[in-house]
Amino acid sequence: MSTVISPSSGVPASDVLEQQFGSDNYAGICPEAWVAMDKANRGFAPAYGDDAWTERAADAFRKLFDTDCDVFFVFNGTAANSLALASLCQSYHSVICADTSHVETDECGAPEFFSNGSKLLVARSEDGKMTPDAIHELATKRQDIHYPKPRVVTITQSTETGRVYSTAEVRAISVACKAHGLSLHMDGARFANACAYSGESPAEMTWKSGIDVLCFGGTKNGLAIGEAVIFFNRRLSEDFDYRCKQAGQLASKMRFLSAPWVGMLESGAWLKNARHANACATRLAELIADIPGVRVASPVEANAVFLLAPEPVLEKLRKRGWRFYTFIGGAARFMFAWDSDLKRVEELAADLRECAGV
Ligand SMILES: *Cc1c(COP(=O)(O)O)cnc(C)c1O
Repeated sequence: MSTVISPSSGVPASDVLEQQFGSDNYAGICPEAWVAMDKANRGFAPAYGDDAWTERAADAFRKLFDTDCDVFFVFNGTAANSLALASLCQSYHSVICADTSHVETDECGAPEFFSNGSKLLVARSEDGKMTPDAIHELATKRQDIHYPKPRVVTITQSTETGRVYSTAEVRAISVACKAHGLSLHMDGARFANACAYSGESPAEMTWKSGIDVLCFGGTKNGLAIGEAVIFFNRRLSEDFDYRCKQAGQLASKMRFLSAPWVGMLESGAWLKNARHANACATRLAELIADIPGVRVASPVEANAVFLLAPEPVLEKLRKRGWRFYTFIGGAARFMFAWDSDLKRVEELAADLRECAGV
């Protein structure tokens, strides 16, 4: 057996950053994914997904979701969302989303581009969540030929602000979708974190609650690269393989996108990783709860903590070397991943306490 090389081996210690929580994308590749990649690297296999690893990964998803879904592997989340949404509508249709959603704010117009112009209809949202009322309002706002016809709703699980939809909430959204003839897509870039928080089965969280298509995020869950697009409503996956190919998302050495999923799903690492990430977020929130002037902006449910603090305090924290973003509503965002070190979480909390002057 060849040796498993840890992601940071061979890198001089001085070049290794102290761990940061700026994004869950800062994390490395988890051992289960790494080992599977290493196994897939022994010898050759057929190209373009016609290999045993890809079949095994798709089967592992069918087992996890307890249903006969269609599974596709793409490189990143922007492509997964955009191509999935494009497969649900025509260019003259529109897609209802929350104003804070990744598809609206962070995909550079890719959903509109890949759907040849389907318009995003934006619902105002406090916590990143979509509501049946918002769907009803946007779906009935205009019914004439001059307005792009609503066809799809997309929701993010967990949301961009770290909130988790209950299955009851997803079901209520699905009822609203059915009433207006809309398909329901889930951006699950952090689906694993949502499952870890809710404790519900992946099936309950998705198709049993009315989700037609799920983009299941692998990158933030511990893979190097890769998201799975899962069609529970298999009628909607027609020609999706062509769509992926045309968009430059059909990996020729597909086994290196799919094998890591085998490692993640068959070992249960996908859930273990998410539980750890969520626990780190909860821990930070606990540690800073009593610091005067510092407040958690949004209930901590998944792997994110959003902190409201006076700007001078945040500036001091930055000067101490901590990296974080404030692009969502001005709060300082800290994101945790499978490899987040609880000691570093404690260091962050202690630094914040000092910076806040207590
Ligand atoms: C990270 C993320 C994605 C995927 O982003 P890519 O950079 O395109 O891989 C999609 N949706 C949400 C909510 C995300 O946080």
